[in-house]
Amino acid sequence: MHSGGCLCGAVRWTYEGEVGAAAYCHCADCRRCTGSAFNVSVRVAAGGFRIVSGEPKRFTSTAESGRPVTRCFCQECGSPLYTLPPLHPELVFVKAGSFDDPAAVRPAHQAWTRSAVRWAKIPGDLPSFEKGRS
Ligand SMILES: [Zn+2]
Ligand SMILES: [Zn+2]
Repeated sequence: MHSGGCLCGAVRWTYEGEVGAAAYCHCADCRRCTGSAFNVSVRVAAGGFRIVSGEPKRFTSTAESGRPVTRCFCQECGSPLYTLPPLHPELVFVKAGSFDDPAAVRPAHQAWTRSAVRWAKIPGDLPSFEKGRS
């Protein structure tokens, strides 16, 4: 049994079943909706995925692929939580960062690299701090 939720805790989800492959997505929509360089989403089976508290807000738009995507996020704190592909109701793509146990996430590939920004890759020699830079 896997679980997860948003930053404020209003929305909580559970998932029972096999955790599918995770994928990095560099498309412009994912960059916008995450507010970051790319999105990491985890494919799960809709039948095992349940919202156990809260009611995410939904936003549907046409993705760069030409297919509709419904993005679900917490209406209190705004955390992106998962997307529903209307053409594939048997699937849910859960945002990797919403998992309580991030170790359950296993990236298998990256998509839309033609839209990737330069800063999507963290240079190995960038000054690094174990905690926040003080
Ligand atoms: Zn929230
Ligand atoms: Zn994307």
